Amino acid sequence: MTENPEIMIIHMVEGATDEQTERVIDRIVSDYGLQCQTMVGAGSIVIGVKGMAGIIDEGRVTELPGVDRVIRITEKYKDASRNFHHEDTIVDVNGTLVGGGSLTIFGGPCAIETEEQAVESAVMSRDAGVDILRAFVDKSRTSPYDYRGLEIARGLDIVKAMKAATGLPVVCELIDLRHLEAFLEAGIDVIQIGARSAQYSPLLEELSRIRTPVVLKHGFGNDLNEWLCAAAYIMSGLDRAGNHTGAGNPNVILCYRGIRSFESETRFAADISMIPLVRSKSHLPLIADPSHSSGDRSLVERVSYGFVAAGANGLEFDIHCNPEEALCDGRQAVREEAGRIVTHARQIHALLAGNGVDSGVAAAAAVSK
Ligand code: PEP
Ligand code: MN
Repeated sequence: MTENPEIMIIHMVEGATDEQTERVIDRIVSDYGLQCQTMVGAGSIVIGVKGMAGIIDEGRVTELPGVDRVIRITEKYKDASRNFHHEDTIVDVNGTLVGGGSLTIFGGPCAIETEEQAVESAVMSRDAGVDILRAFVDKSRTSPYDYRGLEIARGLDIVKAMKAATGLPVVCELIDLRHLEAFLEAGIDVIQIGARSAQYSPLLEELSRIRTPVVLKHGFGNDLNEWLCAAAYIMSGLDRAGNHTGAGNPNVILCYRGIRSFESETRFAADISMIPLVRSKSHLPLIADPSHSSGDRSLVERVSYGFVAAGANGLEFDIHCNPEEALCDGRQAVREEAGRIVTHARQIHALLAGNGVDSGVAAAAAVSK
């Protein structure tokens, strides 16, 4: 980790009084325990703040009399930022690596429906070359009236059967904090935070207290800054008061899945340029979900290749043994196409890596522990 200090600049209005400037400094020092440096220029005063500037609420500072504007020089999402950690982070999922030079495929049924459906889909996914199995017991749906998964204990029993049948690590979405302990006891290897929970602070805070890898989806109404702030929060180990607890979960994997747009022919709009952009802004592994973004099986294959060519460290997509009968998102699940997608995705990845396309970003990777 490179220790660059975070920097924020507070620009006072022309003619701001000494008392107003003192009050601003006092707030920074007493509320946040940070040091300030004042510079007086032609008619205006600038206050520089150095240290953990990420914890400052700009709104509270801007509101003070005499403040013109607050300029953040370093990103608020410090822990997730490449400016503070230049090498790619590699997350180790019980021996399966995500990030850096590898391409990791997450796949499997959108939801567990029955033991037969789940195990058959799991084996099909493993045979297709999937590295980490989707084993979702709890579903947050676009409409709450739609299928929301089995009762949790029953679902987790089936997860164990899926693991036993395939030997693969599993990813499972956590919606309700009350289920975290049961998830860990059942051997969930990766916890997913879905797009609808991507800014739910109690979940993010609780996951910062453990070290189980987390897939953090991009909320479909979030911008890049909001997404990376949520990721950094899981890594930070900050408590409610903004104090360091000494904990913090470095094992965060980002998952891009598209945002809402006016286009109604696709489910969400996936902006391919977000892939290289996010990888340049953050050292965290970035995977992408062609099923939940496109919403249509016939689009999943090409979109997968697009994501990989754009620099994603992996994919996560729905694979179902019988999509026509699926209770959840069958329309966007692939079946026999899965093996071809995995094979070609790996070929595209290897071709580009072999040509050094990624060398600027992934040069020296370090496994986070
Ligand atoms: C999912 O991956 O099953 C899912 C519901 O995706 P998202 O949270 O991105 O909608
Ligand atoms: Mn789904």
